[in-house]
Amino acid sequence: MRVVVVGAGPAGLAAARAAVHQGASVVLVDAEPSVGGQYHRGENIVVPQGVEHLPNTAVWALEGTRLHLRTGPADAPDRVARVLDADALVLATGAHDRALPFPGWDLPGVVTAGAAQAMAKAHGVTIGKRVVVAGTGPFLLPVADVLRRLHVRVAEVLEAGSPLAWAREPAGVFAGRAKVAEIVRYRAVLPRYRTRSAVVAAHGTDRVTAVTVAKLDRDWNVRPGTERRIEVDAVCVGFGFTPRLELAVAAGCSVQDGFVRVDERQATSVPNVYAAGEITGIGGADLARAEGEIAGTCAAGGTPSSRLLGAARRGRTFAAALDRVYHIRPGWRTWPDDRTLVCRCEEVDLGALRTSVEEHAALGLRSLKLTCRVGLGLCQGRVCLRNAAELAGFPYDAERFSRRPIAAPLRLGELADTPLEPEDPEE
Ligand SMILES: Cc1cc2nc3c(=O)[nH]c(=O)nc-3n(C[C@H](O)[C@H](O)[C@H](O)COP(=O)(O)OP(=O)(O)OC[C@H]3O[C@@H](n4cnc5c(N)ncnc54)[C@H](O)[C@@H]3O)c2cc1C
Repeated sequence: MRVVVVGAGPAGLAAARAAVHQGASVVLVDAEPSVGGQYHRGENIVVPQGVEHLPNTAVWALEGTRLHLRTGPADAPDRVARVLDADALVLATGAHDRALPFPGWDLPGVVTAGAAQAMAKAHGVTIGKRVVVAGTGPFLLPVADVLRRLHVRVAEVLEAGSPLAWAREPAGVFAGRAKVAEIVRYRAVLPRYRTRSAVVAAHGTDRVTAVTVAKLDRDWNVRPGTERRIEVDAVCVGFGFTPRLELAVAAGCSVQDGFVRVDERQATSVPNVYAAGEITGIGGADLARAEGEIAGTCAAGGTPSSRLLGAARRGRTFAAALDRVYHIRPGWRTWPDDRTLVCRCEEVDLGALRTSVEEHAALGLRSLKLTCRVGLGLCQGRVCLRNAAELAGFPYDAERFSRRPIAAPLRLGELADTPLEPEDPEE
């Protein structure tokens, strides 16, 4: 039996290891050159024994459990095509981080928290000398800490929400007590941690030189008179993560509340397709690992232990509490002004979005895209469409957003030159 695992982060690695353990033949596919995903970036992680690893390989389309792959650098003209059939599939494609637009967020020097972390972890490269870290969620602290360790002056760490909300989540705190205890690791940056605060504008001409920070009310509206200016040469913003659902949606998996719906065995609504990690809920690397192990075990026909099922259950309780505590509040929509770019690829500003709704009567995301080109650029709306929908007052439908038959960028020549069937091993 052949199990194909897509994504070699903590979830995919655990799935591949567990499936081999069950005696399956396992192929692990990842667009990155080495295994580890976001969490283990820059670490020397080895491919589990017995697993066939296809590095630098993007899954650009899925038809049932048939995968269409391209191997080689993303923009290379001579990538190698391959078609692979799986008896069972584990999708562990992770998430990308989310930024919210505010005036000046498109200036050089303003980066996402994930990007700052990735540069620091993979290459020891820092984004600046004097930095403000802002956004929401526990991820801000490790990012600030990694920058500090690389001798960056972290002026402030601004949390838009209020971690006091944990007081209403005793079950979540108990389930995630190991994670909560990790906070002591970040004690060096805690004195600069401010809650209910955000960067609401970045200033500069060629690059960012200063930011305006402000205190927020419960809904994240700016409290008038609280604005302060801080000189910086870089800003790092992170408002949680958006799951990468394209392949799961292409496989026909049901999506619920923005994530792939799975049962206790990590089975999706499609037979023989399993999902694990951030695409089923944002809960950190430990939960991703537990879910991956369950998914790999079940995909290969095994039965996960009750210890493992219990660990995943506790992880999910913690993840649900995390989501409630750090939920993005609607007041952020008052931060951008009409000239603030919402879609950076197509250079569409908030004024253009408003014109589409008010003058061209855009009724939903589809007509919004067609009337002002938001989300039609290189990132295909991965960065901006969720924000555009919220700013325009349209519902966010993760499943429709992620319906992209071509899941990774592909040259037209490659598309024309695509094998339709797997290679015949007899030939
Ligand atoms: C930029 C970024 C940085 C992060 N840094 C940290 C950190 O330092 N510490 C921390 O605790 N948490 C971090 N996180 C959160 C972190 O993602 C998770 O807790 C953990 O890595 C999730 O594991 P995962 O296996 O679900 O996904 P990931 O680790 O994201 O792995 C998913 C893998 O799937 C691959 N993939 C996706 N789509 C395709 C495709 N179509 N074809 C081929 N391969 C594909 C990706 O290349 C990736 O390697 C970060 C998240 C992001 C987005």
